[in-house]
Amino acid sequence: MKLDDPTRLQPATDTAIELARKLRAHTRGEVLFDAASRGRYATDASIYQVTPVGVFVPTDDADVRHAIQIAREMRVPVLPRGAGTSQCGQTVGACLVIDCSKHLRSVLALDVDARTVRVQPGLVLDELNAQLKGHGLWFPVDVSTSAQATLGGMAGNNSCGSRSIAYGNMVHNVLGAHLRLADDAALHAGPVAALSGRAAQTAGFVRALADSCRDDIEAHWPRVMRRVAGYNLDIFHPHSERPYTRDGAVNLAHLFVGAEGTLGFIEALDLQLTPLPRAKVLGIVNFASFHRAMDSAQHIVKLQPTAVELVDRTMVDLARANPAFRPVIEGALIGAPEAILLVEFSGDDRAALRASLRALVELMGDLGLPGSVVEMPDEAPQKALWEVRKAGLNIMMSLKGDGKPVSFIEDCAVPLEHLAEYTAALTEVFARHGTRGTWYAHASVGTLHVRPILDMRQPGPSGGAAKMRAIAEEAAPLVRKFKGAYSGEHGDGLCRGEWVAWQFGPKVNEAFRAIKHHLDPDNLFCPNRIVDPPRMDDASLFRFAPTYRTITLQPAFDWSAWNVQNDPTTEAISAPGSGGDGTLGFAKAVEMCNNNGHCRKFDAGTMCPSYRVTRDEQHLTRGRANTLRLALSGQLGTGALTGDAVRDALDLCVGCKGCKRDCPTGVDMARMKLEVQAQRHARFGASWKDRLTGRLPDIAPWASALPWLANLRNGSPALARWAERHLGLSAQRRLPPWRRDTFGRLAGRLHLASREALLAAHAEGANAAVLWSDTFNEYFEPANAVAAVQVLQSGGYTVHALRAGNGRPPCCGRTHLAAGDTARARARAQELVATLLPFARRGIAIVGLEPSCLLTLRDEYLAMHLGDAARVVAAQAMLFEEFVVRESRAGRFAPEWVAPEQPILVHGHCHQKAFGLMGSVLDALRLLPTAQVSQIESSCCGMAGSFGYEAAHQAVSMRMAELSLLPAVRAAGDAIIVADGTSCRHQIADGTGRSALHVAQVMAQHLADDDIGVVR
Ligand SMILES: Cc1cc2nc3c(=O)[nH]c(=O)nc-3n(C[C@H](O)[C@H](O)[C@H](O)COP(=O)(O)OP(=O)(O)OC[C@H]3O[C@@H](n4cnc5c(N)ncnc54)[C@H](O)[C@@H]3O)c2cc1C
Ligand code: SF4
Ligand code: SF4
Repeated sequence: MKLDDPTRLQPATDTAIELARKLRAHTRGEVLFDAASRGRYATDASIYQVTPVGVFVPTDDADVRHAIQIAREMRVPVLPRGAGTSQCGQTVGACLVIDCSKHLRSVLALDVDARTVRVQPGLVLDELNAQLKGHGLWFPVDVSTSAQATLGGMAGNNSCGSRSIAYGNMVHNVLGAHLRLADDAALHAGPVAALSGRAAQTAGFVRALADSCRDDIEAHWPRVMRRVAGYNLDIFHPHSERPYTRDGAVNLAHLFVGAEGTLGFIEALDLQLTPLPRAKVLGIVNFASFHRAMDSAQHIVKLQPTAVELVDRTMVDLARANPAFRPVIEGALIGAPEAILLVEFSGDDRAALRASLRALVELMGDLGLPGSVVEMPDEAPQKALWEVRKAGLNIMMSLKGDGKPVSFIEDCAVPLEHLAEYTAALTEVFARHGTRGTWYAHASVGTLHVRPILDMRQPGPSGGAAKMRAIAEEAAPLVRKFKGAYSGEHGDGLCRGEWVAWQFGPKVNEAFRAIKHHLDPDNLFCPNRIVDPPRMDDASLFRFAPTYRTITLQPAFDWSAWNVQNDPTTEAISAPGSGGDGTLGFAKAVEMCNNNGHCRKFDAGTMCPSYRVTRDEQHLTRGRANTLRLALSGQLGTGALTGDAVRDALDLCVGCKGCKRDCPTGVDMARMKLEVQAQRHARFGASWKDRLTGRLPDIAPWASALPWLANLRNGSPALARWAERHLGLSAQRRLPPWRRDTFGRLAGRLHLASREALLAAHAEGANAAVLWSDTFNEYFEPANAVAAVQVLQSGGYTVHALRAGNGRPPCCGRTHLAAGDTARARARAQELVATLLPFARRGIAIVGLEPSCLLTLRDEYLAMHLGDAARVVAAQAMLFEEFVVRESRAGRFAPEWVAPEQPILVHGHCHQKAFGLMGSVLDALRLLPTAQVSQIESSCCGMAGSFGYEAAHQAVSMRMAELSLLPAVRAAGDAIIVADGTSCRHQIADGTGRSALHVAQVMAQHLADDDIGVVR
């Protein structure tokens, strides 16, 4: 089946409509054929975009089988997909894409004694290894994408990990493959000697082919371990540096490893497991020149490390610029090196490992580099540094502007003795074409990643496509000269398919065609890969082709920092606003998503809660960014930005800002959602629910004057049902109760300073602070604000409680922002900034309690066109715990405390985590003598402002909470639960019946001066 223009989203054809109907009728899987869903599966981590006919998400093997049968009958090709993190376009095609990652992810059988496991193809490597850890085992093909890569995808690509020098690639660790072939037959591939039936016949066919091309295999097959191109025709006469099997036997499963889904659908894999090493040590060798680092690799590997990984200066600098990575990378550096090599030794005998580390230090001394090694014997810093290295590519991709590091000669593998010469020669090639590359990765096995910066949107002879072709053609003779492999890690896909024939010669290439024809004569699986591939520079297949355009748009927020271009040789960025983007930078911010899939990870970080509970591409940061990109480039039709597809993709985004911090390229979907809300508000106006939540701060004074009236809904099921029907507020939720004793009314008892008194006290050198009580702590939980005052006053601070001209606390406008009413939000922001500016100008701290409100001053305000005043205010705005810790460290804050009797368990608000502020909460609580403070490893609580109160979201909100937060609270015994976020506290109360406290309350309760009572 051929679509006219595979790069642009096509309306569903009659064939597609019929295919979808049959899939719905005969399977239980999800059938996703709408334009936005197909658009979300039209890209992977490559430069390509090809729209699938449709997407199918099977629930089990029967679904897979039926889908393949239906597709075959309708002559629609099939493309299996895991996490879609392939870099060469393996998972994009005008096919029926079958996504294995949502449901096909079980461990089917584990034999601990034999150290083998059978898994479904959609299981993610880290999830497998988490299950194996308790048994002291792991699957050691540790790809950088281990948190998202599926075992099926890893087998498809013959993936290779950082430690391949010790453990080999995927092919060295697969024991068996269970496949569904194009003609519906099941094929169980394993050791050839034990095969029968179809599998034995296939093995015989491949053996005969291999025998017939033996001379050509000898002549052309690269003798490096890192060769992943073509089919593994050498299984009968292995040419890998490392034997494919431990016993020298031939295993037919290895033919399917690296086949990129072209020969059959993998239903299950048998894998060889390895004992987990008990200890690891790391030596980081710092080099003053890149060439020296490359030249040293061949000597270092003689010490038998388990990994030798390169990080070059550009990447070091980029890591330094990332707040999450800066402290980690700086711990590995001596001065300002041009390159570092991470040299790891692992095993069971720690003493022997330390000896290896000493040997490394000695070796570097012998090589004329004494004092160049940072020794890292402890595992926690090692783990953190590996995370930086694993994020290497992503860090590199954070370059703003249309020129991007492009993957196409990214992973050529050359023998180690030629590494220095090869890298130097390729660097010259880049220079000749007016670009440069950043080098990193697997120095141990001669596979260095490098991506020259190219602008694929530029047409003509100086454009990205032309340069890509020219560089590839100049790189090829170098790879041949050094007897390397053109594709050493990331496979062939659309990008390197045309180099298969170049690498192996015509006869072997014909043998590959014969294998494909033997197993898949009708070209059902992934056509035009490995055999008959397209040209790598076919611009009609590009995501950002020269024809790519965006709509024009006046955004509500300032996105000018993304509206820039870069210089491909210096990576210098042009002035903000100069990038020529018709959306003034919004589209370019969205385009920062390079589809690497990092947001699919499932560990305890913040990103991305909605994906964690749904496992839907639509509800993933990547899926959202792709939907926005398609809308902003007109590929979803006119007006799509404010249309249903974008609304639906953003619906479950809780605005946690996890991506702002965790996404390696800084995709800030929380702000993007606010931008879309603003555009929707401008187009459609506000709904009743939005008006109600947006105006909460205006309603608050009246509701608190008549709380019995405002609270009627909580006591009346009939009213709750009415509110659900008409306002969308879930009847299953209790709304926070209004109260008369607001902070404003309690403040009289607290000896607060007036504005003038505070300024005077500060002028006289007294310790002074402004307390800003937001709407929630003012009206719903005034005890928090009272507690904060008590703690600060006990520490000797003069405290002023911020009031606007009307005597009420000024609101930050966040509720209006969430509702898309940027005009009102801006008015609020201007008022708050004006009220705070006199204090901020004098350097007086502005202390806030609610993370989402206070941090709005440091985040959204800086993009709301509020001018320098907002920046001055932001510099002084801090959370209560940040202030307490800062002042305590400066020796200005030392009240007397009593020791808490219970342990303290802290749940962090998402924005605290996104801004890296959890350390402050923990440190503030550790000021209490003997306090046992620990943090709950949780993602978003799921309440997220009004999100969890909405009837449409209540269930998914509770599922987010149940992922880790609520079970941890239930298991917490008598521990004090701390949560600084208002909505987090409500979610904990709703889900467990337990009260969580703001950190200020816990600290106030432990003041030694018991004259100060805590108002409740
Ligand atoms: C930032 C980054 C870092 C990377 N680092 C590494 C690295 O260190 N080492 C490395 O080797 N690779 C690396 N890669 C490439 C990629 O992540 C790996 O190849 C990964 O193993 C792919 O897994 P996946 O689940 O995303 O597979 P996908 O990309 O979804 O699929 C990969 C191939 O497998 C096929 N496939 C998937 N499921 C099946 C099935 N059930 N049956 C048959 N075929 C199937 C697909 O058709 C496709 O051809 C990196 C990529 C990125 C973006
Ligand atoms: S949103 Fe960020 S983490 Fe997710 S795929 Fe895009 S770039 Fe990667
Ligand atoms: S803000 Fe949170 S929920 Fe939204 S995309 Fe980012 S990580 Fe996911």
